[in-house]
Amino acid sequence: MKIYKYFFLSMAFLSVQAFAQEQEQEKPETKTGHTNNNKFKQLYDEFSTPNMFRTASGAPGPSYYQQQADYKMDITLDDDKATISGFETITYHNNSPDELTYLWVQLDQNMRAKDSKTPLIEGSGVAPAQQPSGFVSTYMKEPFDGGFNIMEVKEAGGKALQHTINRTMMRVELPKPLKSGEKFSFSIKWWYNINNHVDGRGRSGYEYFEKDDNRAYVIAQFYPRMAVYNDVEGWQNSQFWGRDEFALPFGDFEVNITVPADHILDGTGELVNRKDVFTKEMMNRYEKAKKSYDEPVIIVTQAEAEAAEKNKSIKTKTWKLHAKNVRDFAFTTSRKYIWDMMAVNIGGKDIMAVSLYPKEGNPLWEDWSTKAVASTLKSYSRMTFDYPYHKAISVHAKNQGMEYPMICWNYGRPDENGNYSDRTKYGMMSVIIHEVGHNFFPMIVNSDERQWTWMDEGLNTFTQYVAEQDFGKWYPDALSEGDETYPSRRGPAAKIIPYMGGNQDFIAPIMTKGLNTYQFGSNAYSKPATALNILRTTIMGEELFDYAYRTYAQRWMFKHPTPEDFFRTMEDASAVDLDWFWRGWFYTTDWVDIGVKDVKKYYVSSEPNKYVKDIVAQRGMKISDLPPLVYMVEEGSEDYKESLKNGSAVENSSTLKEYLMDNFTADERKNIKEPKYFYSITFEKPGGLVMPIIVEYTYSDGTSKTETYPAQIWRYNDKEVSKSVASDKEIVKITVDPNLETADIDTSNNSWPKEVQQSDFDKFKNQVRD
Ligand SMILES: [Zn+2]
Repeated sequence: MKIYKYFFLSMAFLSVQAFAQEQEQEKPETKTGHTNNNKFKQLYDEFSTPNMFRTASGAPGPSYYQQQADYKMDITLDDDKATISGFETITYHNNSPDELTYLWVQLDQNMRAKDSKTPLIEGSGVAPAQQPSGFVSTYMKEPFDGGFNIMEVKEAGGKALQHTINRTMMRVELPKPLKSGEKFSFSIKWWYNINNHVDGRGRSGYEYFEKDDNRAYVIAQFYPRMAVYNDVEGWQNSQFWGRDEFALPFGDFEVNITVPADHILDGTGELVNRKDVFTKEMMNRYEKAKKSYDEPVIIVTQAEAEAAEKNKSIKTKTWKLHAKNVRDFAFTTSRKYIWDMMAVNIGGKDIMAVSLYPKEGNPLWEDWSTKAVASTLKSYSRMTFDYPYHKAISVHAKNQGMEYPMICWNYGRPDENGNYSDRTKYGMMSVIIHEVGHNFFPMIVNSDERQWTWMDEGLNTFTQYVAEQDFGKWYPDALSEGDETYPSRRGPAAKIIPYMGGNQDFIAPIMTKGLNTYQFGSNAYSKPATALNILRTTIMGEELFDYAYRTYAQRWMFKHPTPEDFFRTMEDASAVDLDWFWRGWFYTTDWVDIGVKDVKKYYVSSEPNKYVKDIVAQRGMKISDLPPLVYMVEEGSEDYKESLKNGSAVENSSTLKEYLMDNFTADERKNIKEPKYFYSITFEKPGGLVMPIIVEYTYSDGTSKTETYPAQIWRYNDKEVSKSVASDKEIVKITVDPNLETADIDTSNNSWPKEVQQSDFDKFKNQVRD
């Protein structure tokens, strides 16, 4: 009998529900004019098809290959003339299945050639006011005579090779086609004038110190470098315009660098003739540094550096550096350098954390640079893989923030009296963490920077955020008074709001080539970093995210990943559906804005409400055809007023339970909860991004509970959704995104009852939108 009744009840419910659902699905068109515009559509059209090179799981496929370029170079730096010359032999290994008839070599220095087209792509009118130095360099100065002078290109036997230079790219004709599995050796002889990087904003060059008439060199992109050839781009020979960085194959380097004898030099690779270039004193200090895990040991003191500044040697010295499996080579050299080092243990292996800086960097640099390097290696190794190289160097160079394998240039200089602001200090620490972090992305997880800035800058800036927070924890002395945690500039959700909520005319999707984006820093650094931070803390949770992120890093360390390899791996290793997330955050310029629009309170009634009466009338049925039903009556409605009159509304749950009792077995009854309050809560989404709805319910007894409705709640209606909530306590307040973790650009609609408030952002927004 009970079963029959229950069955009948369900049947009747089904028909009523089916009708309700039909209505629900019509709602979007009729009510708001919006259906879901495919925000949950899978990313098949945007992604390349998986193949034997790259699998659908996001891992390298069985036919994955990569080319290798090995270099042997003899380099001479002439400090008097500020020139650099080199003779290099490249051995190129064709590991691709393809036959190659020519090779592409990158001549990045040509961006500084007199006839460079880089200045010509910048549209600009006459600046209404300019600093004298800027005016002179714009209108009154001969352009700098930079760029490679290619003296010869020869094959191993000494025969000249035909070559064609197209701006920053050089095509070298092969004497005969290079078959799959073969290698080809050739040599290039070159020289160029070194630029002043402080004037010309170069990634490489020298800084001139007028007071002591010395230069500090940070030298990179200084030799003709092989371009990448792969399964995705063929030859990656997109020109270097100055912004989009580099795509480089891995290889082994043997480099001899000749500089003035009193210079201190360090660079990519292992120093193989330490005994020739170190004094006995330096050797002893170095041995100590290898066993010092807490404090750096000074290898060259400030007093020694200052003495060298005054007595310039006319002799030369050759430093020999060997590196295995690196994608690039860079070095720094100056007689001004102070040098310190300490050991850091990563996964049972000792790595050297190293800093080089002129006295102008002190006292900031001797205090914090090497510790920041060591801390970064620990954090990044935890998030990705154990740092595989034997050292990581931070070099102080004015206005620089630039990365190379094992070495990077970083800004952050105190004033002449050694004083510095918090801004300078945190700027210096952050840039070191960032640039050392680049060892992982893109030096080891070797993505194509020319094509996808976010793959190195975005991933790196995200990991930098994690590393900065670690640094603040591990070195509380580094924090300024009043700071409890490290004040990260990029990563926290709130920081991206002004950009994502800004003028759409000046925003491009993350999946845009860097050269062509407005607000480059926000687009390629901050937004992907914030997206990944939100993905980690709000969408996936740290455990699932970190496992997937590590999987990506480990799958692609010492390889060349594409965006799809990243997107696919993050899903593959976590079982979290993320197509909607990549689509919204990476392929569009939509922003987050979710609010609570309306809250209705309901009571249970035994009397048919208007809704059911209407259905019954429409279908030609009678109320008596229906089994007993539980009717919901909205507070304040006509039904409600009626139910108050006839006493049918059930506010008391014991009555509710009694009322329902007939329909359930004794066993089932035990498991029935007794909610007293019923609500229909409507959430609205003025923002284009689909995101989970994080809701904090506050109850009349002062307690609260947070509920997260997955992003998929928006799949049928992109503008608004309603949720029924039954509660045994009265809800007095509802707050969407209570911890401000989703980058919601407008929080004025985030509470019920509505709070009259104007946040800083609202004020800001009103200003910029006006
Ligand atoms: Zn960077």
